[in-house]
Amino acid sequence: MASITMDNLHKVYTGGVRAVTGINLDIADGEMIVLVGPSGCGKSTLLRMVAGLETISEGTLHIGERVVNNLEPADRDIAMVFQNYALYPHMTVFNNLAYGLKNRGFSKAEIDRRVRDAAEMLEIGAFLDRKPRQLSGGQRQRVAMGRALVREPAAFLFDEPLSNLDAKLRVQMRVEIRQLQKRLATTSLYVTHDQLEALTMADRLVVLNGGQIEQVGTPMDVYSRP
Ligand code: ADP
Ligand code: ADP
Repeated sequence: MASITMDNLHKVYTGGVRAVTGINLDIADGEMIVLVGPSGCGKSTLLRMVAGLETISEGTLHIGERVVNNLEPADRDIAMVFQNYALYPHMTVFNNLAYGLKNRGFSKAEIDRRVRDAAEMLEIGAFLDRKPRQLSGGQRQRVAMGRALVREPAAFLFDEPLSNLDAKLRVQMRVEIRQLQKRLATTSLYVTHDQLEALTMADRLVVLNGGQIEQVGTPMDVYSRP
């Protein structure tokens, strides 16, 4: 487990768009931060900078004790949960969960343990032999979550993971994800444009506007302010 420290982070895209400007933020070990703000405010850019999917133009990013500015995504000890599930359609659930671990050279026994642990936590243990198309939307989202879980990362990054689900399932899944995050106490950065989702999931909310932090606080702090 690890804290995440952003020290004066900037992102200027090729072409000159200043997407993120001077972000200073400490995410404590085990804390869930939810990033909110209007479309185009830089949420996804900031998340992708932490993931290592965008370069950092200026500033320093720590995950735990390490400066990770120049580390590849796979070397950052983080796992990202995407909205489009990012599952392999031709593979079983088991293999979807195991795939990344196989690539990294884990033993068969270790892969088996991790996949079964994650599947049990997510209550998809009965579906390990199915293909994604044989699952419901909620089950597919759990498999996507499982692909992050099996990595046993120091931090989770969530990129609007629930935005493809219907309203009822969204409510159910946000409770499940939050319970799991608390139980594992995994440091998390969660991007959403859904205010209720932000309210119910965040330890602290970060409101971005024009690439800068406009407010930081508990959901009570942020939403009770005039
Ligand atoms: P959000 O996730 O809050 O909607 P983004 O991080 O996607 O915001 O975008 C922030 C700003 O950066 C926007 O002005 C957007 O148009 C711009 N932007 C995003 N991605 C790129 C890119 N690959 N190249 C140039 N500009 C980009
Ligand atoms: P998989 O995506 O199943 O892990 P890939 O070979 O497609 O397998 O992954 C490419 C690289 O990205 C791998 O080195 C892997 O460690 C890393 N990676 C895979 N999934 C994630 C994730 N959810 N978050 C962060 N990095 C990931």
